[in-house]
Order: sequence, then C-alpha cells, then structure tokens
Amino acid sequence: MSEKMGGMQRFKVVIVGGGSAGWMTAAAMGRFLDPQRFSIQLVESAQIGTVGVGEATIPHIRQFNQMLGIDENQFMQATGATYKLGIQFNGWGSENSSYIHPFGFSGEDIAGVGFHHAWLKAKKAGQARDFQQYSIACQMALAGKFQYQSEDETSLLSHYSYAFHLDATQYGLFLKQLAQQAGVERIEDKITSVHQHSSGDIKSLVLQDGQEINGDFFIDCSGFRSLLVGESLQQPFDNWQHWLPCDSALALATKKMDTIVPYTQASAHTAGWRWRIPLQHRTGNGWVYASDFMSDSSAQQQFSEHLEIHADKAPKKISFVTGKRTNSWVKNCVAIGLSAGFLEPLESTSLYLTQIAIQRLIELFPQNGVTDVERDYFNRTLNNEYLKVRDFLILHYKLNQRQDSDFWRYCADMSIPDSLQQQMDLFKQHACVDNYRQGLFMQPSWLAVYLGQGFYPLTDNSALGKLSSDSINQQLERYYQSVQNAVAKMPAHQHALDATAQRS
Ligand code: FAD
Repeated sequence: MSEKMGGMQRFKVVIVGGGSAGWMTAAAMGRFLDPQRFSIQLVESAQIGTVGVGEATIPHIRQFNQMLGIDENQFMQATGATYKLGIQFNGWGSENSSYIHPFGFSGEDIAGVGFHHAWLKAKKAGQARDFQQYSIACQMALAGKFQYQSEDETSLLSHYSYAFHLDATQYGLFLKQLAQQAGVERIEDKITSVHQHSSGDIKSLVLQDGQEINGDFFIDCSGFRSLLVGESLQQPFDNWQHWLPCDSALALATKKMDTIVPYTQASAHTAGWRWRIPLQHRTGNGWVYASDFMSDSSAQQQFSEHLEIHADKAPKKISFVTGKRTNSWVKNCVAIGLSAGFLEPLESTSLYLTQIAIQRLIELFPQNGVTDVERDYFNRTLNNEYLKVRDFLILHYKLNQRQDSDFWRYCADMSIPDSLQQQMDLFKQHACVDNYRQGLFMQPSWLAVYLGQGFYPLTDNSALGKLSSDSINQQLERYYQSVQNAVAKMPAHQHALDATAQRS
C-alpha cells in the first residue's frame, strides 16, 4: 500500500471528510508528520457538504492554533472571530435566573482555604455578594470589556482566560490552506464504497468516478455518518440520549449585534435551549430541542418568533443522537469529530474533543503498523474525556428547578451516571469538587454551575474553623474591589477587536 518517494516507502494516510474535523486533522498532520515518510490525502464531497455549525470554542483552541503556528490576529480576521470570556446561562436554574460560566476563577484562597468555602460561609451569614461578582472574567463579560490576560501569575489579570466565537466554515478554509501548503493532497469526490482486508483493516475507498484510494491508515472525519468506523467497522454507538435528551437543532444567522458581547448566550426554553453567538460580521442563532417534547413545527415557529424573522427565511435543521462510538480507534482507522461522537453544543466542547483526539493521535502515530499499545491508550484517554464532558453537561439539565414543562421535570427526575452522582454528593457534603486530576472542566467550572443553579452544600467546610467572619468579609470585599478597579480600566470589547484588525 505504501508508496515510494526517493527510494523510501511512504506510509499512506487517508483522511475522509473536509469539515472542521477533517481540516483540523489535515493541518496538524501536515505540520507534524515528515513528508519523506508519510503521504497525506483528504477526500471530501461538495455534494454532501459539511454540518456547517460549531462557532463557539473554549480556550484550548488557542493552544491548537499555536501548535500550528497560526498568527492569532490573522486567524481572527479570516474567521470573523470575536473574543469569548464564558457562557451566560439564562433560565437554567429557575426560569428567571442567570449566571455566567466564566473562563477563569473567582477569588483567591483565604489563609490557605479555598475561596468558595469562605464565600459560602459569608453567603450563609448574608454578607457576600453574588459569586460571579468575584470573577474577573464574569465582570469583564458583563461590562463588555476585553484585554489579554497577564502571564504574571501573581496578577489578578492572570485569573481569566479567553476563547473565540468564529465562523466555522471560514476556519475550515483557513486550515485547508495551511494543510495544502504543507503538502496534503485534496481529492474532491463522493466515496461510494469501502474495501477491507481479510483482517478487517480498511484497504481502500472507491470514489464515484471509479478511482480507488488505497491507504495504510485512515482517519474517519465523515461527520454523523461515521462512514468507516461506524458503517464499515461496525463499532457500536453508546447512546446517551436518556441523559442528554436534545436531538434536534435549528440554526440561522442574523445581522451582527449592535454591541458585540464577549460571551455566548445559552437560554433555556420549554424543551431545550437556544444559543446566540456574536461574530464580527453576523450573529449565529440556534434552537436546540428534544423532539420527544417539542414538534418540529412548534420549534420553527417559536424560533422565528424569537428572532423576529419572516417565515421565508428557513433555518437549517440538524438532527443528532447524543453519545459516542464505544471506541474511536478501531483496526487501522481512527474516528475524529462527529464520526466519533457528539454530546451537546451546550458547553462548546466538540472542537475541543476533536483537538484532543488529534493531539493524542500525533503523539502516538503508528511508525511500523498499528499495535494494541497505542490503540488502547488512545481509546482509554479519549473515552475518559467524553465521560467527563458528558457528566458536566448532564449536570446543567439535572440541576434545573423549572416546573414549566414536562421536559424540565423529566430532566430533574432522571437517573444520572454514578460518576456524576458521586461528584454531586461530594459537593453536597463537603463543598469539594473532584477535579479528576486532569482534562476539561476543573473546579471553577463545576462551582459556576452548582452555585449558578442553586445547588449548595449542607455544611461549611471544616478547614474554615479558625477563620473569623470579619477577616473573611474583609478579604472578599478587597478582592471584589480589585476586580472592579481592574475591569474599569479595560478597553471595550469592540476596541480590542479593532486593535486586532489593525495588527492582522
Ligand atoms: P462535518 O462538518 O459533517 O464534515 C463531514 C465531512 O465528511 C464533509 O466534508 C463531508 O463532505 C464528508 N463526507 C461524508 N460522507 C462522505 C462521502 N461518502 N464521501 C466523501 N466525503 C464524505 N462544536 C463546537 O465546538 N462548538 C459549537 O458551538 C458547536 N455547535 C454545534 C451545534 C450543533 C447543532 C451541532 C450539530 C454541532 C455543533 N458543534 C459545535 C459540533 C461541530 O459542528 C463539529 O464538531 C464540527 O463541525 C466538525 O464536524 P465534522 O468535521 O466532524 O463533520
């Protein structure tokens, strides 16, 4: 299968799909794999197209872009990106509640005790402000401010991070250019059949024009269809719909916001939620719903009413099933992106899961044929990532206090995975968060959702014993004032965007 280059056999890598996942993979492979030893081809079909959504990210994307040597200013201009400091959740606790899950943390330890423990004590005594008033990322977001964070860990300006809202199609094109410059060969046609060796390994792809594409290693970025890992290799799908019941979305872009805010909005409605994502040139809007609880026509009507658009402007409908392939690396093929799984757009984790899969794969890239060592390690680590994201997403639904619909009552009453139950019990008893030691969604994220949705511990943490209320209150207030002072001096988000445009 491998082909010769200058007397050397090259290992042939074939990527199926040219959505965000395909081009992210191709750009990274093109940058890191030695072209003397590896050839890379990507097959995509304009006839099938891409899913065309996926505009909100989390801070890890900056690391991915840096890994590819991408200039942030150029990237932001090419993708119409805006800065993102967190997600505002409206109506997820009670119907009128609102909180921000920020990229960053609230407060600093007080005499070696976690800030939130001290805050909880003061809150109980009626002497604390809202938790998010001690979060610099939340305060920046609400004030519409943006400034790069500081590298100095002793500075308050290092207590936050940022991500982007971006045009996913433009991001794909940007990466496509990088990948092609790095030697990735693009083939445009529809794959009509897949051939396998007697071992079960993928052997080749047959295109509509009759051409046969052979490969040593295949990366399945074919989207929800999961052409290789799902259809050909028959890898089972772990269906998580009973925990994450939304299965449909309507998406439609509207004109850009008059004032472009540096955060995503996720607002609950009677059978799901809707998103608003501000880009420089337009606003992304979506209506996510559970079809068991809301009909398509009702969703269409409510979405149109909400956006105040005419019926002739039809949103794009996307159906999905929440869950993942049991394993994403099977035989000589790895699924990356939607072909590996999809949980929910709620916390913007899909591009992150894609990124992590690419980084792991590069780290473990087969040198002399695939062995169980890399395959098992890859599947173990990726499965863990999915489980952590899954539990965190379920938490948002489980903790709702809404009584306005069957959907929210179902979510509040549903049984949850043991791993999430343990996490919630730990917080209820001790106000502690198991950070799972690594990966996504650490303590500040869990605290944001717990406290934002009104889930409080039963007792004070015993480590607080010797701290006097006066000393706690003084330190809370001092921190709050320093946040207010810092935010007041920051430039407006729009100013930061204009500066980015000038630097690009
Ligand atoms: P696709 O974009 O579907 O690409 C599949 C590719 O495979 C296409 O190029 C297609 O042509 C090709 N293909 C398929 N079959 C064949 C064939 N037979 N022959 C040749 N080519 C073929 N993620 C985030 O990180 N943030 C978000 O805010 C976010 N919001 C989302 C909202 C919704 C409603 C949904 C459904 C997803 C969202 N996502 C989000 C996920 C995000 O859209 C995807 O992770 C991302 O777009 C990557 O998709 P993909 O490349 O895996 O699949």
